[in-house]
Amino acid sequence: MNKISLDQLHTFGCPVKAQTYQAIRQLDDLRDLLPLSKPYLILGGGSNMLFTKDFEGLVLHNQIKGIQILKESATEVWVEAGAGEVWQDLVNWAVASDYGGIENLSLIPGSVGAAPIQNIGAYGVELEQVFDHLKAVNLETGKVQLFDRAACAFAYRDSIFKQALKGKFLISQVCLKLSKQPIFNTSYGAIQQVLEEQGGELSVAKISAAVCAIRQSKLPDPKEIGSAGSFFKNPLVPKEVAQILKANHPNLPIYPSTNGRLKLSAGWLIDQAGWKGYRKGDAGVYQHQALVLVNHGQATGQEIWELAKAVQASVQKRYGILLEPEVNVFL
Ligand code: FAD
Ligand code: NAP
Repeated sequence: MNKISLDQLHTFGCPVKAQTYQAIRQLDDLRDLLPLSKPYLILGGGSNMLFTKDFEGLVLHNQIKGIQILKESATEVWVEAGAGEVWQDLVNWAVASDYGGIENLSLIPGSVGAAPIQNIGAYGVELEQVFDHLKAVNLETGKVQLFDRAACAFAYRDSIFKQALKGKFLISQVCLKLSKQPIFNTSYGAIQQVLEEQGGELSVAKISAAVCAIRQSKLPDPKEIGSAGSFFKNPLVPKEVAQILKANHPNLPIYPSTNGRLKLSAGWLIDQAGWKGYRKGDAGVYQHQALVLVNHGQATGQEIWELAKAVQASVQKRYGILLEPEVNVFL
């Protein structure tokens, strides 16, 4: 049987194939396949994945569509979107309707269904802040289960679907609670500056446009240069560790976090270790943001992974901090 190319189905754009492929447009497409008898992988927009070799199994490509309002109050609206909707299409829908909550998450690549997996976040907002519940199919039993916010165990770029339930459920719908009277979050450095330059009254659309403009100026467009966004998570460290590092590296940016920890900038650590703009063959570290590893054209997933490990080792040697990949790496 001919293998299926995944080159165009993930944003790193590395040459990689899968044994078989099935688009899931409705739940019956999935139920017909259960119980799954071979290794499988759920694919959304492929914007948070690195394949280091061919995938010898079945790719389940989520394409469940639909955006609908489940209910609304005077101040809020509960919106359910199919997991296969493009995240930016949902953002555009919310912006056009003037519903607030996800405007800071504008232009994050990928699908709605993957958004809860790593609790997507940007510009001071995380998905969990607007999340109401999701529906997911248990891939062993075929039963649909509802997960509220507590059940998802959201954390910084993390959820139960990256931990105990990794690969066990296919998320089919996500319901967000958006606001008709949004409280805008413009505290994240660059947003404020762009809005001030633009002038005029604050709105969902204005913030979304500002975020899009900042992102377009700083981040590689997956259509032009392969990447999966930030390759590593920002490390969350105990206060004492941050204090020692700060004493030795006074310019180290440190941000507040939860559970008595502080957040370090992984991009800064990689940059200071001398990696920004580095290139070996077609595998590289993005010249405008050291946290982003890129495929300049023909790099294989293995070459990107070798680079990631070299970056990781060098940061650990220099700062004693082990960077954890944010990207889902298939070894
Ligand atoms: P995929 O890469 O297809 O899948 C990611 C993981 O989720 C895989 O483990 C997959 O098996 C699983 N999965 C996917 N869909 C489902 C489903 N329906 N049910 C169960 N499991 C599923 N992320 C941020 O948080 N903030 C950012 O600002 C951000 N910026 C980015 C910028 C660029 C240029 C790029 C390339 C990436 C960026 N990312 C960012 C990472 C990425 O866009 C997000 O993680 C996004 O949510 C991934 O969506 P996806 O559909 O592409 O997921
Ligand atoms: P940036 O604004 O240059 O900031 C660098 C890092 O410092 C970010 O990782 C950010 O952490 C942290 N930071 C900056 N200001 C902060 C503040 N006021 N409070 C708390 N933390 C702060 O980063 P960037 O690369 O241009 O990205 C901008 C936003 O888009 C960030 O939120 C980033 O997470 C998101 N983004 C994510 C990805 C991805 O793949 N995950 C890719 C591109 C951009 P946080 O990352 O925790 O915000």
